[in-house]
Amino acid sequence: MTDHSTPHSSGSKAGWNFDHSYAELSEVFYSSLSPVPVAAPDVVMVNEAVAAELGLDLEWLHSEEAAAVFAGNILPEGSKPLAQAYAGHQFGNFARLGDGRAVLLGEQQTPSGERFDIQLKGSGRTPFSRGGDGRAALGPMLREYIISEAMYSFGIPTTRSLAVTATGEQIRRETPLPGAVLTRVAASHLRVGTFQYALQWGGVEALRELADYAINRHYPELNEPGAASSDSQRYEKFLRSVVERQAQLVANWMLVGFIHGVMNTDNMTISGESIDYGPCAFMNAYDPSTVFSSIDTGGRYAYGNQPYITLWNLSRLAEVLIPLLDEDADVGMGIAEQTLSGFERLYLDIWFDGMRAKLGLSNREEEDEKLIADLLDLMKAFRADYTNTFVGMTFRMPLGEDQAATSDAAASSRTFPGADALLASGEYRAWERQWRERLTRQNTTPEAVREMMLAHNPAIIPRNHRVEEALQAAVNDGDYEPLHRLLAALKQPYAHTAEQAEYAQLPLDEDQGYQTFCGT
Ligand code: AMP
Ligand code: MG
Repeated sequence: MTDHSTPHSSGSKAGWNFDHSYAELSEVFYSSLSPVPVAAPDVVMVNEAVAAELGLDLEWLHSEEAAAVFAGNILPEGSKPLAQAYAGHQFGNFARLGDGRAVLLGEQQTPSGERFDIQLKGSGRTPFSRGGDGRAALGPMLREYIISEAMYSFGIPTTRSLAVTATGEQIRRETPLPGAVLTRVAASHLRVGTFQYALQWGGVEALRELADYAINRHYPELNEPGAASSDSQRYEKFLRSVVERQAQLVANWMLVGFIHGVMNTDNMTISGESIDYGPCAFMNAYDPSTVFSSIDTGGRYAYGNQPYITLWNLSRLAEVLIPLLDEDADVGMGIAEQTLSGFERLYLDIWFDGMRAKLGLSNREEEDEKLIADLLDLMKAFRADYTNTFVGMTFRMPLGEDQAATSDAAASSRTFPGADALLASGEYRAWERQWRERLTRQNTTPEAVREMMLAHNPAIIPRNHRVEEALQAAVNDGDYEPLHRLLAALKQPYAHTAEQAEYAQLPLDEDQGYQTFCGT
């Protein structure tokens, strides 16, 4: 049932060009409803680059009407809002969930022919809210803005943030907090949990409907003539495609030291985009057991566990898809297992290639795997900063003939916080000799090696203490200057500029006891 109480905006100059393909699915998949209006919309962040890609008018973007749209007080022209149904394994436990604090306004068709979900997060209660208030706090929404922009700058597929709008209302958490609505832009909000929901609450026909929809939207090449010999094979290829995109995604996370924090199956997309930046954080000292999330007491979603959890989540998807893979469940199960069995090697190949690039290695040798593992062991033993170790290695890389001289000069003239002790150690020198020798077995100049390393080792990550500092200034003092400076420095993580050097500093306490919260 559609709630028509929220008025639509009249002007067409905004640039909205909505379609509603998801709303054409069976009703079991969603609930039509409007966002719940708020007291005093105030747009505190707006993303002009994203707006331009979406085809929105930049003048409109800064208008009062836009603020009312981003707050959910009026609907953009052509919007048919709905909350999506989904389920999910949360820390291993299966639950029926759904958008408890979000509405999909529609799918924006961009001037370049792409389609993006436009979702308001923190937009009020829905039939899926259970005990929650349907709202979000300003701090966590700004956090999602920062981290999603950083991921985008790293070139990692991610949802993006169009706007953060303060509501002028306090929400009740442990202490009262200022509320906000995030306008989120995503290739889609289809999740592994959407498929789990489909089979459980819609049956095989709903599952098939959803799989066809997901293929059309994210893997249309599987519909080409000749792409699959049968429907079952098409679904098998669909599963394989999701496995590939997720292997790529988690490898990307691992390479930049990103810890998602809450890899529940409802937080894993079918498109392969990173989604739902709650208690996520970037690792400082290299340690696979690193966990920041306050709710992850068992370390289920620790940094080093992420590839395993990705496979676990993909197994939940595969399991659900069995009825589509073959009429015979046993055969279907065999196909699912077969497809999943490719994950580990696929992930490792992508990740090792990424590590090779970080070390300036442009060809593949089998022994590279040991070289890389040895370096990580040393980093762990020295509690070396993950990001700065690679930056230090990059800048110590001698250019030209007199290697030793340049290397020492470079090393003494610049420090690399959290990495100097390792880089000066005898153990590292011994490892470095093997690396140098390895570099001679490829056909590249030292300059080319340096270039490759610069392009694959970020100068800057959104370090937890800098993110917190920016959020506190914004939320407590209304001072958005540190946040804008941080965002500007994060825009080109591989630029290695002087301004970025400041952001390479570590927190004084090395993140001991640093905790992130879901912000729900
Ligand atoms: P998340 O932790 O953001 O992935 O959310 C997990 C589930 O809890 C989703 O179904 C959300 O819609 C729901 N949820 C989170 N916070 C709230 C809230 N404040 N009110 C209602 N539902 C919420
Ligand atoms: Mg979620």
